[in-house]
Amino acid sequence: MKIYNTLTRRKDEFVPVEEGKVKMYVCGPTVYNYIHIGNARPMIIFDTVRRYFEYKGYQVDYVSNFTDVDDKIIKKANEEGVDASVISERFIKEAQTDMQGLNVEEATVHPRATQEIDGMIAMIQKLIDTGHAYEADGTVYFRTRSYKDYGRLSKKNIDDLEAGHRQIQVNGEEGKEDPLDFVLWKPKKEGEPFWHSPWSDGRPGWHIECSVMAKKYLGDTIDIHAGGEDLIFPHHENEIAQSVCANGVEFAHYWMHNGFLNINNEKMSKSKGNFLTVRQISEKYDLQVLRFFMLSAQYRSPLNFSADLMDAAASGLERILTAIDRLRTMKCSQEPAPEDAAAEEKCRELVQKFEDAMEDDFNTADAVSAVFEIVKAANIHVTEQSGDKLRRYYLDEIEKLCNVLGIITEKKEELLESDIQALIDERQAARKAKNFARADEIRDELAAKGIILKDTREGVKWSRA
Ligand code: AMP
Ligand code: ZN
Repeated sequence: MKIYNTLTRRKDEFVPVEEGKVKMYVCGPTVYNYIHIGNARPMIIFDTVRRYFEYKGYQVDYVSNFTDVDDKIIKKANEEGVDASVISERFIKEAQTDMQGLNVEEATVHPRATQEIDGMIAMIQKLIDTGHAYEADGTVYFRTRSYKDYGRLSKKNIDDLEAGHRQIQVNGEEGKEDPLDFVLWKPKKEGEPFWHSPWSDGRPGWHIECSVMAKKYLGDTIDIHAGGEDLIFPHHENEIAQSVCANGVEFAHYWMHNGFLNINNEKMSKSKGNFLTVRQISEKYDLQVLRFFMLSAQYRSPLNFSADLMDAAASGLERILTAIDRLRTMKCSQEPAPEDAAAEEKCRELVQKFEDAMEDDFNTADAVSAVFEIVKAANIHVTEQSGDKLRRYYLDEIEKLCNVLGIITEKKEELLESDIQALIDERQAARKAKNFARADEIRDELAAKGIILKDTREGVKWSRA
């Protein structure tokens, strides 16, 4: 299996640290809002990578964090006049709902930064003790030049970086020895959440959290570290520097980065405000369609989101699900037909094609094409005259491959009318009580199940999407 490794800038053969196991860490979202469809890209891609490893028989330890302390979370909490944890708890729950809708498997561990402070303090202390970090006025900085391979991942030259940094003087960072140094711990400001530490009451920098959580849950050297390409520098570069200096061994063997999801050919980001949330998409589409859309492109290429491409993904997905439905309900003969052996061989070849695509740096675009070819072959070769063994063979293989892609092949259970009415009544009661959060939640819950509500003069009407 070959993986494009940002560290080497080529496709490297995958050799695990421990035979039969994969230790994988994926940088998760900062939870101050609903996740947007760009955040969904790494979630879907790396979940598919995990699923393919599992299909090949590996045991995968998959760790993905929630960054639940950060300037943006604190800002939002201050705006709402609540504790930062109220914001992060709320959006962790919402992210989990969306991830479920996207059929992203539960991580082995989903650590949260705020629950790992002790580990961060210990790693920072170790870095200070070994001369890789220093304290100035309650702030602890990493001494970037103390790590000789700094810039190896992002291919940046440390002297060029230095020149770029010289003009930038950040307030409160006067104690920095070198503009290249970055923060490991910072003292609290008024109104901010804080933890006690030997240096000040304060909170950790962002980079240290991932180094600590990866070490705690996966070990000093892991197989794969992944995230969006925007994280290569400085986040992942800094993670490497911290981990290697604290642990004395290589941090991750393979660095995988997904390309960006753009919208109308423009970079989409929370800070720009031109983003679509997964929740908004779920009002119009089954989230399986979003997943299928993402997998129809190579993960390292930029991908442009558009309604046309989503509609194409919806009809492609429908084609697969219809074929599965046909195979499930079809009555075939007990006896094999003479042409069944060739048809089975055809399926085997196409499954191989799927695997070859996945083995080539998880080329899901080609893997999806192979699934379409199998579906086409099933529609042609599996008929009522075929033996039942052939029908089962095609069905099993298509189901297995859909499972690797994370596509749910079971028909969605439809909500009963009485359940829908009960939820509508509860929503009306919540609105009356001015509990609009709960009312919106119910509307979203129904939307996720394909039930559209319409407020009319005669009361609330509903329809199935
Ligand atoms: P953030 O919440 O910004 O820290 O992002 C969480 C994850 O989503 C990281 O792996 C980012 O690289 C990734 N990400 C953010 N925006 C996009 C985007 N537009 N396209 C693809 N990945 C993204
Ligand atoms: Zn990270």
